[in-house]
Amino acid sequence: MVDMHCHLDLYEDPFAIAKETVARGVGILSVTTTPKAWAGTKKLEQGLENSIYTALGLHPQLAAQRFDELGLFDAILPTTPFVGEIGLDGGKGFKNSMDIQLKVFRHILSNVHSSGGRVMSIHSRYATEQVLDELKGIDGAPILHWFTGSKRQLRRAIDLGCWFSVGPNMISSKGGAELVRYIPLNRILLETDGPFCKIDGEILMPWDCKKTIDGMIDLLGKSKPDISQLVSDNFTHLKKLVV
Ligand code: MN
Repeated sequence: MVDMHCHLDLYEDPFAIAKETVARGVGILSVTTTPKAWAGTKKLEQGLENSIYTALGLHPQLAAQRFDELGLFDAILPTTPFVGEIGLDGGKGFKNSMDIQLKVFRHILSNVHSSGGRVMSIHSRYATEQVLDELKGIDGAPILHWFTGSKRQLRRAIDLGCWFSVGPNMISSKGGAELVRYIPLNRILLETDGPFCKIDGEILMPWDCKKTIDGMIDLLGKSKPDISQLVSDNFTHLKKLVV
């Protein structure tokens, strides 16, 4: 199985974490927050190429400061099937940069579309509706990471072909768990959002994406091995769409 949204480069000793994660039988979609972080983060794949995948990103919370890195983004895009973290953030402190966030997001989506689509890990905090508006008609496989929209928006996202990466915190919240019940089984993936995400004050490690499975057993009415198989098969299927 694969942690589909992890900021591997932001852990204290990312090389060691990468190795330990793979030794525990878990892969990582290693998302980046700026194009400048790409080269260094890509190096963390070394020797672990079939388990660690690096995604090219420009985080919406950094769009205002880093939009001048879009040229670098465009230059790297042809070399990778994975894009993220990208998206929009309409939360406090970020909604006043929405114009520039939209410019950045549209630029990226239009390049992704014209170059045949990508697997994309997408942030949509307090901006679900706008993110879905922008994804309409874009080629590729969008994954909504830590989806927090309404049930109606979830249905809209499913119709648009979105996938969903679910973390331990989403599954342990009442609202999050309720949404997970409505995600089609063939669109569910795991994530941690580490090292930003914590449980009981402890930073989540990439292999903690397995904790999501424990929360899914009752919710989906499936056994632990069946869910592990399901999310692994989903990743294999997703990868085939773009690689
Ligand atoms: Mn993130």
